[in-house]
Amino acid sequence: MFNKILIANRGEIAVRIIRACREMGIATVAVYSEADKDALHAQMADEAICIGPASPKDSYLNVQNIISATVLSGAQAIHPGFGFLSENSKFAKICKECNITFIGPDPECIDNMGNKSNARDIMIKAGIPIVPGSKGAIENEEDLLKTAVHIGYPVMIKASAGGGGRGIRIVYEEKDIIKNYENAKAEAEASFGDGTIYLEKFIEKPKHVEFQILGDNFGNMVYLGERDCSMQRRNQKVMEEAPSPIMTEELRKIMGETAVKAAKAVSYNNAGTIEFLLDKNKNYYFMEMNTRIQVEHPITEMVTGIDLVKEQIKIAAGEKLSISQQDINIHGHSIECRINAEDVSKNFMPCPGTIKELCIPGGFNVRVDSAVYSGYKIPPFYDSMIAKLIVYGSDRQEAIDRMRRALGEFVIGGVSTNIDFQFDLLNSEEFVKGTYDTKYIEKYMKNLSY
Ligand code: ADP
Ligand code: ADP
Ligand code: MG
Repeated sequence: MFNKILIANRGEIAVRIIRACREMGIATVAVYSEADKDALHAQMADEAICIGPASPKDSYLNVQNIISATVLSGAQAIHPGFGFLSENSKFAKICKECNITFIGPDPECIDNMGNKSNARDIMIKAGIPIVPGSKGAIENEEDLLKTAVHIGYPVMIKASAGGGGRGIRIVYEEKDIIKNYENAKAEAEASFGDGTIYLEKFIEKPKHVEFQILGDNFGNMVYLGERDCSMQRRNQKVMEEAPSPIMTEELRKIMGETAVKAAKAVSYNNAGTIEFLLDKNKNYYFMEMNTRIQVEHPITEMVTGIDLVKEQIKIAAGEKLSISQQDINIHGHSIECRINAEDVSKNFMPCPGTIKELCIPGGFNVRVDSAVYSGYKIPPFYDSMIAKLIVYGSDRQEAIDRMRRALGEFVIGGVSTNIDFQFDLLNSEEFVKGTYDTKYIEKYMKNLSY
C-alpha cells in the first residue's frame, strides 16, 4: 500500500479523498492555487504545496507543477478526483513514465473511452446497444446533412471530447442544423481544444441511468447497481438517486452485465461509470463512459456500503478485488442534492462570495460532503458546487422525507444558493412519483416564479 498520496484536485472531492486516505493510514499532500490558500483541502492534508495562480490552466491543470510537487513530497501516487486532469490520458501516461501511480484506469482505457465517437465504435464491435447515430465523427457539412436525414430528426449534435454537458445541441429541423453545428463546434473547440463532432438520434423523454463498475488489474469486475441522474438542467445533473425508481431486478441484471461487458471491451481497471439512456419502452442505449470517480458516487456508497475511493486506492496499489458480484446487495435508498452557490432567479448565475453563516444538517443517515466553512470566501474561478447533501433511508419515501428535513436545516448565509430550489424540486409531483425524465426541470421551470 502507498505511504503517501498527492491529491490533484480541490474542493469537496479533495476533502473526500483526504478522508479516505486518513482512515487507511496514508499521508496526504494537497496542491492548491494562489486563490485556494485558505481552502479546506489545503488545511486538512498533511502537507500542502502551492502549484500556481488561480486560473486552472496555471495550477490544477499544470502538469509540470503537479508532477514536481509529487516528486518533491515523495508521494507515490496521484488521485486526480473528477474534472481537471482526471480524464487526461497524457497526464496518466506522464505519471507512469515518472514512476508515479495514477489512481485511475490505464491511459489506453482513457484514450479508448474518452473520445466519445471512438467509444461508440468500440461498443458496436463489442455488441453493446448504442444510441443510433453517426459512424465516427462528422467530416463536413455535406456529411452532416446526409447523416442527419439518415438518422431522422430530431438529432443531437455532440462533441467527441465533451463533458459537463457542454458542446451539445438538439436540432429538430434541417434548417437549423448548420448553425447549431457551427455553434457546438466552436463551443467544443473553446472548452476542450477539440472541435470534433458526432451525431446521435435525440431520444425523447429518456431517463439517464448509469452503472457504477469496479475492475481490478487482474480482469475481475463487478457492477454496483445504478444511479438515476435524470434530474438535469442543460444536460448537467442537479439531483441523483439510487436505486432508480423505475428499475426492476431483471433490468438491473441485464444492464449491469452489459455495463461490465462494455468496460471489459477496453480492459478497464479501477472505478468507472457506464452511462445509459433509457427510453419510454425501457430500451437502453450506451451513451458514454466516465473513466473516473463521479460527483454522485456517494449515493452508491450509501446503498452498497462500499467505500468507492478506498476501493480505487486499493486497486491502484495492485490489490485484487475483495468483493464478487454475489457480495453486492442494494439496500434502502439514497438521494444526493448538489448545492451550488448560484442565483436561481438570475438564470442560475454562479454567485461566489463570502459565507457569513453556516449551519450544516446532521442527524441519522445524513451526509454532507463539502469544503466550505463559516467565513470561507468562495473564489470565482472554479465550479459553483459548494456541497453535496446526501441522505439514506430504508426506502425511497424515507429518503425523501429525510432530504426534506435536511434541506430545511441547511443554512448558508452571505451567498445565494439553490437550496430552496432543491426543496421545491423534491416536493414536485413527478419527482415524488419517480417518473421524471431528463427534460423535467425545463418543463417544471415554466410553471415557477423564480
Ligand atoms: P458527473 O458526470 O461526475 O456526474 P458532471 O456530468 O456534472 O459530473 O460533470 C462532468 C465533469 O465535468 C465533472 O468532472 C465536473 O467536475 C466537470 N464539470 C462540470 N461542470 C463544470 C464546469 N462548469 N466547468 C468545468 N468543469 C465542469
Ligand atoms: P457529458 O459528457 O457532457 O456528460 P453525455 O453524453 O453524458 O455528455 O450527455 C449529457 C446529457 O445530455 C445526458 O445525461 C442526457 O440527458 C442528454 N443526452 C445526451 N445524448 C442524448 C440523446 N442522444 N438523446 C437525448 N438526450 C441526450
Ligand atoms: Mg455524461
